[in-house]
Amino acid sequence: MHARRDHLPFPWRHHACGYCGAAIPAGHALCALVPDSSVIDHEDPSCDGRRHVVACGSAHLDLLIGQANDAWIPEERWLGQLCRASMQPGSAGATVAQLGARARMPTDHVRRAVLWNSRREAPLRALPGGQVLSAADLETMLGNR
Ligand SMILES: [Zn+2]
Repeated sequence: MHARRDHLPFPWRHHACGYCGAAIPAGHALCALVPDSSVIDHEDPSCDGRRHVVACGSAHLDLLIGQANDAWIPEERWLGQLCRASMQPGSAGATVAQLGARARMPTDHVRRAVLWNSRREAPLRALPGGQVLSAADLETMLGNR
């Protein structure tokens, strides 16, 4: 029994354009590393805030880069940093302010991240490590400024 062969030698290596969805023949994809405030690398913080995009041509690559730049929300990234800190050993009973200190975040970033979360349509009620994100925490932080 013969496997059916396509014209293209390595069909599994094709990418789809991140902008238009078109299949890109192998060897013709254009790639870029773009900012993405929702990306938190749990292994390596130096890889936070970036992701790869693939496009069918330079016009769509430029559009993807523009979209990524427009979508950047600093508070989203700071909240991600708090989420990562919340899961580290010894963080179980920590306050949000303590987690921020452990993540070496300026107090203002912690405050803005918590405030941004509270204004989202579906805010996190607790960090992944179980620490509750309460309005009282936010007021304490505001009071300490
Ligand atoms: Zn495209």
